[in-house]
Amino acid sequence: MKGTVLHSPGDVRFETVDPRIEAPTDAVIRIAATCVCGSDLWPYRGLQPIEGPTPMGHEYCGYVEEVGSDVTSIEKGQFVIGSFATSDNTCPYCTFGYPSSCAQREFISRAQAPFLRVPLADGTLVATREAPPEDMLASLLTTSDVLGTGWFAADAAHVEPGATVVVVGDGAVGLLGVLSAKQMGAERIIAMSRHESRQELARTFGATDIVPERGDEGVERIRDMTKGIGADSVLECVGTNESMMQAIRSTRPGGHVSFVGVPHGVELAGEELFFSHVHLHGGPAPVRRYLPNLIQLVLDGAIDPGKVFDLTLPLEQVAEGYRAMDERRAIKALLQP
Ligand SMILES: [Zn+2]
Repeated sequence: MKGTVLHSPGDVRFETVDPRIEAPTDAVIRIAATCVCGSDLWPYRGLQPIEGPTPMGHEYCGYVEEVGSDVTSIEKGQFVIGSFATSDNTCPYCTFGYPSSCAQREFISRAQAPFLRVPLADGTLVATREAPPEDMLASLLTTSDVLGTGWFAADAAHVEPGATVVVVGDGAVGLLGVLSAKQMGAERIIAMSRHESRQELARTFGATDIVPERGDEGVERIRDMTKGIGADSVLECVGTNESMMQAIRSTRPGGHVSFVGVPHGVELAGEELFFSHVHLHGGPAPVRRYLPNLIQLVLDGAIDPGKVFDLTLPLEQVAEGYRAMDERRAIKALLQP
């Protein structure tokens, strides 16, 4: 069968792969839907080196095709969703609520394919009680990473009922950070975006204000809008030095900054950090911890995060999905095997 492999920057190929059970704790699933992640664009753009041909994709949901002999809680035929990071759900880090730092963690990287091997299937995968309706697949797929990460951004930034929240970054994660902040009861949600279609989606997800300015100008606008105080919670969903500084400088003393964009060139000055008086919390989102709740919210129809997909392609056209996202013609591309 064929799967997605990145050979060098800009060179995405759909070529032969062979997922199969390799360890007794593995499962192989038939992918129902997968997608291109904003973080896939870093190596695609050559901003993150790769060592030779690299299989791609880490957002997935689908049907269990086969399980290894030690798998006990997942069965053939079930519909399952898993995190981009595998976890055993039993080690100390998992027990503390950080399965994406699991002692046995592996990063999934072969999901843009018709079948996927999932290590530590019992810990990593969450099964739904029955097969979901087709029209919920897109929203369920988001729980695997992009929604889970947006949710962590809001959670780690300590969003509380009544809070004033700023979201830096209008990619899919930032937009779902808006949705998450709304779910957590934020009163004011300021989305920083200069793209009309993304501003519109941010409003659909619950943004009350849009600020197109960036950097120091963006910080100035947030200060003006909060009577000079700064925001309670700021979600940094980009990963550049500029966005990180913008987030910290937009936060009031005692406020919380989360950072969920994979950092590229972020360097914080100790003295500024010291006097900013903010809480910082970020990292790879502990998606597995949130999965049961997020899946339920989708199945209940309480949220519709699948709206971030504004492009749907057959899986074999994956290269076009990368191009469309790279050129910002698409917010996020869904791929159907
Ligand atoms: Zn663990």
